[in-house]
Amino acid sequence: MIIDGKAIAAEIKENVKQEIERDYLSKGLTPPKLACIIVEGNKASEVYVASKEKACASVGMESVIVRLKEDITKEQLKMEIEKLNNDDSVSGILLQLPLPSHLDDKEATNWISPKKDVDCLTFENLGALFSARHIIAPCTATGIIKILNHENIDIVGKNVVVIGRSLLVGKSVANLLEQKNATVTICHSKTKDLEMVCKNADILVVAIGKPNFVNENYVKKDAVVIDVGINRTDNGLIGDVDFSSVKDIASYITPVPGGVGPLTVACLLENTLILDKYK
Ligand code: NAP
Repeated sequence: MIIDGKAIAAEIKENVKQEIERDYLSKGLTPPKLACIIVEGNKASEVYVASKEKACASVGMESVIVRLKEDITKEQLKMEIEKLNNDDSVSGILLQLPLPSHLDDKEATNWISPKKDVDCLTFENLGALFSARHIIAPCTATGIIKILNHENIDIVGKNVVVIGRSLLVGKSVANLLEQKNATVTICHSKTKDLEMVCKNADILVVAIGKPNFVNENYVKKDAVVIDVGINRTDNGLIGDVDFSSVKDIASYITPVPGGVGPLTVACLLENTLILDKYK
């Protein structure tokens, strides 16, 4: 079955919209506000930020884009983040990654106040996540869990293989799945016998960033395949999974586009709303 990420995301967005209407707008209160910081120089980031701004408007949420020059210094970026940390009208802050190479993604993300860290990537919030004391989790990882829940896919005791160990996706989703009592294996570029490890997975999550990397040799019959990859090619957006060779083997599979991507945006809206309620 091909999972319709757009439809699942639409349900989440509708719930967020209704909650904003009920708890803010109908009471004359200012709705939550998402601030997205973009350091110029990355085309894909421009597209992502524009779609986040549009998504905010679609649910009645406010947003502000803080656009910074590519040659911004570390000190100036820190100051911009601190301005947003101290702005009471801002509920959540998202620093669009990757940053230009003279800046350190992890260091800069950690300047965001944990209370406004909408992608749950500050060291404090990651500590909470890995201790199962989190209020929110990274948007993409949350979206993957929502997909599995929506499709009533059993997680308890299942063999889950996650390819990719970034904080943003691989490590976070692996952790959430382990908290849901899956048996989780995390693979990366140094993993030996990757095909064999993956072939043992009941649920295979792929977050590598290499177009069509995972083919039928990696997938067990009736496995659930979640393709996180977004690769921009001359043929448009392509996932990390070779969809055509895997779709008839998998019991469930997410397409690219239209799979995990829309969930990431929907969960960003939901996380912003949650942070606003906790502030
Ligand atoms: P990342 O930080 O570059 O991490 C990639 C991971 O893949 C690393 O852990 C790397 O291993 C591993 N890897 C690379 N080549 C491999 C190989 N040949 N075999 C096994 N593992 C390999 O990327 P990311 O931020 O996690 O993103 C991954 C993909 O997801 C990208 O395509 C990105 O655009 C996409 N993405 C999509 C969404 C969405 O909403 N759908 C959100 C975020 C990201 P090492 O650690 O050993 O280097």
